[in-house]
Amino acid sequence: YKDSLAGKKLTVGCDTSFVPFCFPDDSNTYVGFDIDMLAALSDYLGFEYDLQPMDFTALLMSVQTNKLDMAMAGITITDERAQVMDISDPYYDAGLQIFVKDDNEDITQISDLEGKKIALKEGTASIDYVNENVKDCTVTTFPNIESAYLEVQRGAADAVVYDAPNMKYYLSQNPDSGCKVEGNLMDGCQYGIMLQKGSDYTEYIDAALEAFKEDGTYDAIYEKWFGEE
Ligand code: GLN
Repeated sequence: YKDSLAGKKLTVGCDTSFVPFCFPDDSNTYVGFDIDMLAALSDYLGFEYDLQPMDFTALLMSVQTNKLDMAMAGITITDERAQVMDISDPYYDAGLQIFVKDDNEDITQISDLEGKKIALKEGTASIDYVNENVKDCTVTTFPNIESAYLEVQRGAADAVVYDAPNMKYYLSQNPDSGCKVEGNLMDGCQYGIMLQKGSDYTEYIDAALEAFKEDGTYDAIYEKWFGEE
């Protein structure tokens, strides 16, 4: 499969901000685990790409309406998404956790969210999880997760439920947030690359992901962003 997409130019969408998978650095260049994976895919398969950052809901919609060839943004593989898009083989294991203020002693698990105010990110798998697992709560949604975290920091919401790797990285970069991560990893999930339904590219992407596991590319990118685990 090496160089099998040479001469192709793919339009690839990413999220405007999903640390540490895709986010703008100080000079407004997109960096992150997914951005490095994309560069490795491009290098291995030989394609060029045009990167288009957009809000998460627009990102999923753009793949479904064939405006993007693919989307990479720590996107959870779900049955609903698999019905409307092609999805690569999984490339990252994640799950959900709870973000609360440091001094919050009441919320340590999902059942503690009954009757609480929860801030969530629009269009994400955490919304389905909260809808299915918390009967009675007030949900506010935001296009970007940073706004949801700030909602907890300023006391306007009790908790955020969201992807654990993002939460941990956010806290490591914002040591003065006054917040912490609670709860066991819930709703274990895997991230995949979203492609158009019936895309010609899916088998190439899967082949490259497989090669990256064997040739050390995956481990090198993983260690760069998450350290050795
Ligand atoms: N993994 C989550 C989802 O797919 C969130 C992804 C994101 O916000 N970029 O719903």
